Amino acid sequence: MISQETIQQLESIVGREHVSTAEDVVIQNSQDALKQVFPAEAVVFPGTAGEISAIMKLANEKRFFVTARGGGVGYTGGAVPIKGGIVLATGRLNRIIEINKGDLVVVTEPGVTNYDLQQAVEAEGLFYPPDPASWKESFIGGNIAENAGGPRCAKYGATKQFVLGLDFVTPTGEIIHAGSRTTKYATGFHLASLMVGSEGLLGIITRCILRLLPLPESRRTALAVFRSAEDACRCVASFSDAHIQPVAIELLDRASINAIEDYEPSGLPRDAGALLIIEVDGLRETVNREAEIVRQVCLDHHAVQFQEALTDDEATAIWNVRRKLSPAVKMTGKRKINEDAVVPRSRIPEFLNFLEDTGRKYGFLIPTFGHAGDGNLHVNVMLQRDDEEERELGHKAVREIFQRAVDLGGTISGEHGIGYAKAPYLEIALTHPTIDLMKTIKRAMDPNGILNPGKIFN
Ligand SMILES: Cc1cc2nc3c(=O)[nH]c(=O)nc-3n(C[C@H](O)[C@H](O)[C@H](O)COP(=O)(O)OP(=O)(O)OC[C@H]3O[C@@H](n4cnc5c(N)ncnc54)[C@H](O)[C@@H]3O)c2cc1C
Repeated sequence: MISQETIQQLESIVGREHVSTAEDVVIQNSQDALKQVFPAEAVVFPGTAGEISAIMKLANEKRFFVTARGGGVGYTGGAVPIKGGIVLATGRLNRIIEINKGDLVVVTEPGVTNYDLQQAVEAEGLFYPPDPASWKESFIGGNIAENAGGPRCAKYGATKQFVLGLDFVTPTGEIIHAGSRTTKYATGFHLASLMVGSEGLLGIITRCILRLLPLPESRRTALAVFRSAEDACRCVASFSDAHIQPVAIELLDRASINAIEDYEPSGLPRDAGALLIIEVDGLRETVNREAEIVRQVCLDHHAVQFQEALTDDEATAIWNVRRKLSPAVKMTGKRKINEDAVVPRSRIPEFLNFLEDTGRKYGFLIPTFGHAGDGNLHVNVMLQRDDEEERELGHKAVREIFQRAVDLGGTISGEHGIGYAKAPYLEIALTHPTIDLMKTIKRAMDPNGILNPGKIFN
């Protein structure tokens, strides 16, 4: 239990108005997109790295737990204080410090949303590609801590490809400046990279130096419907043979297509095996040529429908099909166990067949969609009753699905992380020496186990 005296010390660090024990604030900050509440004892809203350092030093002295929070829309419980202590909310660290066109970098605090960052850099003719669907709510700090991805990762890679340097406060309260504002850096361990995907276990990010690209001049979007998932997947592989790399190649399986048609009919054929949304970007002339290649490759792979957006509105209409998925899939059951497995993209057809078999075996609908360009698929095991027995069967199915993903050369998460929700499955993906090395790093940086306990490792 955190004493009243400790609360007062926290207040003297960040200011009285930036510490809350009010029930509504605590509940709101003690859950994420999984909607399971583990109440914190207090929520603290620091405004500087110095304040965070002082909080961490106090936490080590008084031995209370600290869990960092970004936008609070994680899918694996990473920001949820499952062992109590305080939530350290980063929303006040919300300044974009510098956008530098000459160096192609943006320097930002971690509490800026992905959306606001993208808007700010695009206004300068620059481009920050990582685009999680949660972009309006999720923070850059949370994106880095989870190594977030999105449709555009097919061409540009995930968040880790854009992190050049980070300031962070260690679990014991030291302020570290890691990496630099240069794209090349070979000066000791790349500690900024260690922080990417560290899920708030190794430090609290307070300043981020991110790589930018010139904003592509043009983009073109198309939607192609295939009779079979195999045709769609062979089509994905053939883009490389045709010397192009689309920005995004999103795949929806048959169950997802039908979920959309049940939710809000969009004229998609219910007997289609799969659908692809493909986008290309670059210089206008290149985009025109690539769009023509996309069309030809899709037709060569027996696309039964091909629709190309010629205006921004038409492109938005195509992307709206993808955006409808989340609410549409939710309607197909009482509870969704939402996972984001990854397989090498050549193995997607085998994985989809396995998912259909698993659905049949357990009697679950498993709508699957995601990023065919990088093999990262959102697998949704839909429970119809959501009672104890069905939940147990659901988790059994998930275990088999993860095992299959790993057997195919993939892993159990491509972008949502492990948190507490996937911790029981970690040993499917990683060997014991690998897990032990991660735990050794954690112990070395956080000897008192203060920061985000109960996550990643069971
Ligand atoms: C509708 C929906 C769509 C989504 N789509 C995508 C998607 O397309 N791609 C994708 O990758 N994810 C997606 N997600 C998952 C989620 O949004 C991402 O994991 C996102 O990166 C989380 O950011 P956040 O700011 O909400 O982090 P939080 O949930 O607040 O925290 C996540 C983790 O980061 C740590 N953390 C937060 N801030 C810091 C900091 N400053 N320093 C150190 N650690 C910190 C926390 O301790 C926690 O472990 C989606 C979620 C939802 C609800």
